[in-house]
Amino acid sequence: MNTVIIATKNIGKAKDFEKLFLPMGMTVKTLLDYPELEDVDETGTTFEENAVLKAETISKVLGVMVIGDDSGLEVDALEGRPGVYSARYAGIEKNDEANIDKVLAELQDVPENERTARFCCALAMAEPGKETVTVFGTCEGHILLERRGSNGFGYDPVFFVESEGKAMAELTSEEKNEISHRAKAINQLEKSLKDRQQSDV
Ligand code: IMP
Repeated sequence: MNTVIIATKNIGKAKDFEKLFLPMGMTVKTLLDYPELEDVDETGTTFEENAVLKAETISKVLGVMVIGDDSGLEVDALEGRPGVYSARYAGIEKNDEANIDKVLAELQDVPENERTARFCCALAMAEPGKETVTVFGTCEGHILLERRGSNGFGYDPVFFVESEGKAMAELTSEEKNEISHRAKAINQLEKSLKDRQQSDV
């Protein structure tokens, strides 16, 4: 059976990809299955660069198809910050509460209509001997004045999703999966895979 490796140690993310690849007869593995591999440093300046870096580095080492992803929050009034630094914006790796506090403090004097923001997700699919495919998904919204809801992770409690009229953290995981930046990027990837399969025939 063909294997695709998702360049993440996050099981939740890997599950989203299983929905796409299992019906294609492919087995999905994550970096948890390869503990000997060193972490790839996210040195890119864009989400796409980091996704490509992860996918191509690991694909070269293992010689199989690898999907790399990078995601984060872009706030217009902060010139796109926290961007690729979303996970470590407050300096401490993966401290969601401190990251939210920092964004809210920086937007303290910014009125609601200027607090526009988006979640972004870039995916890169690398395979030996083939050109790397990159896709991108976004979810538009604005940053609330204070936290709302208790679902999700990261910046979800302060991100108001325009299309749903709710904070991301007020959506169930099923609702979030319908509209999220990651879901949209996975849909794009599915389209690219179908196009590629047709051109391979
Ligand atoms: P990574 O793509 O796993 O490196 O995620 C980067 C960071 O972006 C996370 O640690 C979160 O702070 C933020 N982020 C990415 N996607 C989401 C999301 O769906 N909700 C909230 N925060 C997110």
